[in-house]
Amino acid sequence: MKYTIMTPGPTDVRENVMLSRAEKCTNPDLDLEFYDFYKETCEKIGKLLHTKNRVRILSGEGILGLEAACASLTENNDRVLVIDNGIYGEGFKDFVNMYGGNPILFKGDRGRAIDVNELKLFLDKDSNFKYATVVHCDTPSGVLNNIEEICKLLKSKGILTVVDTVSAMIGEEVKIDEWGIDIALGGSQKAISAPPGLSIVTISDDAMNAMKKRKQPIASFYCNLLIWENYYENKWFPYTMPISDIKGLATAIDNILDEGIENVISRHSNIGNAVRKTIIDAGLELNIIESDNSNTVTVVKIPEGICCNELLKILREKYNVFIAGSFGYLENKVLRIGHMGESAKVDKVTYTLLSLEMALKEVGFKCKVDLSKTFISYL
Ligand SMILES: *Cc1c(COP(=O)(O)O)cnc(C)c1O
Repeated sequence: MKYTIMTPGPTDVRENVMLSRAEKCTNPDLDLEFYDFYKETCEKIGKLLHTKNRVRILSGEGILGLEAACASLTENNDRVLVIDNGIYGEGFKDFVNMYGGNPILFKGDRGRAIDVNELKLFLDKDSNFKYATVVHCDTPSGVLNNIEEICKLLKSKGILTVVDTVSAMIGEEVKIDEWGIDIALGGSQKAISAPPGLSIVTISDDAMNAMKKRKQPIASFYCNLLIWENYYENKWFPYTMPISDIKGLATAIDNILDEGIENVISRHSNIGNAVRKTIIDAGLELNIIESDNSNTVTVVKIPEGICCNELLKILREKYNVFIAGSFGYLENKVLRIGHMGESAKVDKVTYTLLSLEMALKEVGFKCKVDLSKTFISYL
């Protein structure tokens, strides 16, 4: 693998994670030690996210968690508040519809974080929702929403909270219990820096009770979060656990615990801040107002007249750097530098910015400053 992976997921994976995935397998359904290993790994994740809620690792990339939350909570005609200031934000309406619910969108400006005062005014008029969905970092645009204020507000109105923090958790602080997050969703391939393949779901008592009180059964087996309730006591998983994936994840989690979650988060904020400042000094433009960006990804508007795909091709073929374009309404309009997890390292970001400067020059855009030097000066 020759590439420097600087996409906002999948991210770079450390060697000890790859080696853990290569260990000999047991039968995870029958080997009782595996139940302890699974449970301990879940508890470690809970510690990183400051929660005593149950944590589950599901076999399937991040999207599985999003769908499982909606499948498990939604009953016919349930009113669900979908907080939308980005592509993933809006996307929740499809899962709500799929499971028979009635999504009501609260639309925010796509260039900045959700305005919590506006949301409060909206909820003062109408707060009759079973649950609300909100995205922490909406990765295609790079916006970071203030889920602390949003979830506290929603809980004060008696609304359950579902937070997609797939591309933020570990790179940004998440305090599940203090902030009142009923279901938090994560994935293995973003800031956790394990390969793709696993979803992480935390479930509060309030969310469990809502599932238990359902009149209609959950219309799914694979997406049914209730089915896991007593997996440990019963020594029963709903399906065979992908043991190698979970071993890799556990080592990635240990790497984070060894560095210390506070250190990991400040590493992301130092790098995120320095990248944003560098981009602005270069005469380039951020996609989101500077204060509202996630520290896990920087989304940059592509200068007038420059072809996104050509730029990405030069970076890939000449410099072996993978950065990403975007999709939906942002397709061909922005490029995204992922600096999350193992990719949020000074050496990798410095080389990426150096390569970006050269590639931009080749397509006719001259940066106003030396990107790599400027980046280092801001650290
Ligand atoms: C990556 C990501 C997901 C999960 O998407 P996958 O296609 O499964 O990787 C969900 N939500 C957000 C905000 C993400 O960035």
